[in-house]
Amino acid sequence: MKNETVSFSDSSDCTKIRKVRVTVETQGVCIQPEGTGVFDGADCGPIFLEFQNGKPVLYVWTDINGEDPIRIDLDGALESARTVDVIECGCCGCYHRADYGGDCRNDDERFADLDDAAARLGKRVNEVYPVS
Ligand SMILES: [Zn+2]
Repeated sequence: MKNETVSFSDSSDCTKIRKVRVTVETQGVCIQPEGTGVFDGADCGPIFLEFQNGKPVLYVWTDINGEDPIRIDLDGALESARTVDVIECGCCGCYHRADYGGDCRNDDERFADLDDAAARLGKRVNEVYPVS
């Protein structure tokens, strides 16, 4: 196990320095803000991050006397979950990325429909509408 203690300013009082121990374990990372622990040991931090089937999962023990952590699935935070805004073009009737400002004839930036956009962009798409 590799562990390191890092320090940074308290966000409410920047004159106070807070310490956090970060321990890299075989299957995850344990984070222990100074003065915290878990029910069965003072050397364990109340925050643990691991991957399960390629998806990050965070466990947080918010009560030092409680055994059950809060589980937070972070798969919604994966870059692969990011959506791309697309807009139906009033000029050509196809879809373009909402931030595309180029020529409608550019086939790389012209999509027949939302499924075509999702497939070719490799991301989920979100249709947005022009502000009138
Ligand atoms: Zn167009």
